[in-house]
Amino acid sequence: MTDSERHDEYEVAVVGGGPAGLTAAVYTTRLGHDTVVINRGGGRAAMMLDTHNVIGVTEDVSGNEFLQTAQEQVREYGADYHRDFVEGAERLDDGRFRLTANDVEVVADHVVLATGFSDVRPDPPLPRTGRGLHWCLHCDAYMFVDQPVWVMGTGESAAAVAMIMLNFTDEVDLLTRGDEPEWSEETQRQLEAHPVDVVHKEVTDMEKGEDGWLEAFVFEDGTRRAYRGGFPMYGSDYNTDLAEQLGVELNDDGTIAVDDHGRTTVEGVSAVGDVVPGHNQIPVAMGQGAKAGIGVHYRLRKYPRSLEEIESGGEVTSDQVPGISQRLRERAREHNADAAAPPVDTEGTSSADD
Ligand SMILES: Cc1cc2nc3c(=O)[nH]c(=O)nc-3n(C[C@H](O)[C@H](O)[C@H](O)COP(=O)(O)OP(=O)(O)OC[C@H]3O[C@@H](n4cnc5c(N)ncnc54)[C@H](O)[C@@H]3O)c2cc1C
Repeated sequence: MTDSERHDEYEVAVVGGGPAGLTAAVYTTRLGHDTVVINRGGGRAAMMLDTHNVIGVTEDVSGNEFLQTAQEQVREYGADYHRDFVEGAERLDDGRFRLTANDVEVVADHVVLATGFSDVRPDPPLPRTGRGLHWCLHCDAYMFVDQPVWVMGTGESAAAVAMIMLNFTDEVDLLTRGDEPEWSEETQRQLEAHPVDVVHKEVTDMEKGEDGWLEAFVFEDGTRRAYRGGFPMYGSDYNTDLAEQLGVELNDDGTIAVDDHGRTTVEGVSAVGDVVPGHNQIPVAMGQGAKAGIGVHYRLRKYPRSLEEIESGGEVTSDQVPGISQRLRERAREHNADAAAPPVDTEGTSSADD
């Protein structure tokens, strides 16, 4: 029997191992619920060359480094982690959920969907992500103070971001790349009343510096405009296949509908992070993961038993506590013993002897 088969039943299964899913998993695991995280990898956090807006994490930390530390933390507390893609989700007759991935199949009492979204990419030429191509306004606008900036797209969001960037710089071009603008007449009037250059020519080439940063786009008529960086605004593909298989309600914009604690319209299914409405930011995703994790604990914890449960199932006896699973109980005892052990100095004697 393989390791995954031995542990294929969990209280909580988290799909997606970005900041939202890993935070939910840290909470459910430390609150005593056997948890598995199944993550394909390569989500939005993994695209970060450096991290902004996360207090306690320095800017030079890449997305992959950030996620690696978080995965280690989750595992340390006793959660299982599988690098895999979940293709199927169904509700079983007993009210639990079965998730089918390529190499693992798990059954869980509660599912947390933290599957994020994929940014729609315009056609090349495009600079490298983080070197002139930027996907996160609230993360990266700061680095363009007093720099020439492009915004690409033809919709309302492209026009809005172009005008928003005027809070940071006085050089903003809105590049439609030869496509018809789709923003409203009202937005057109608003644009005309702001110092944004709308450029309708297609981009055919670009110039980059030795450090890899974008320096300019070249247009179909041979003209060249200098830029430090910018934002493509072509929308988001929300990863909601599993939510749809489970019958979870979606919002009109494609996000998963949730309440303030990440509960979806299906009992036992939560959703957090970029796949739900809200600001697409790591601290927000982590906050949603934390709230959902605590919410899952409220739903799954065994004690206190209600008076109704005591009447139907009897009083809680001392041999039934603690409620935490044997596996997590042992892991917690080991973890707490490690944390309590005095540090060992290089001579091999503990500093407590000094
Ligand atoms: C280039 C870039 C830079 C950014 N910089 C910052 C920044 O500096 N500061 C900041 O606060 N925010 C930043 N953001 C935003 C931030 O990355 C996101 O808000 C955050 O990652 C959302 O977390 P998440 O867990 O919801 O989604 P993600 O990080 O996208 O993680 C979702 C995970 O779910 C997995 N997944 C999806 N479907 C399945 C499935 N069926 N089975 C298994 N796994 C699945 C994906 O593979 C992925 O690993 C940036 C975003 C981008 C794109």
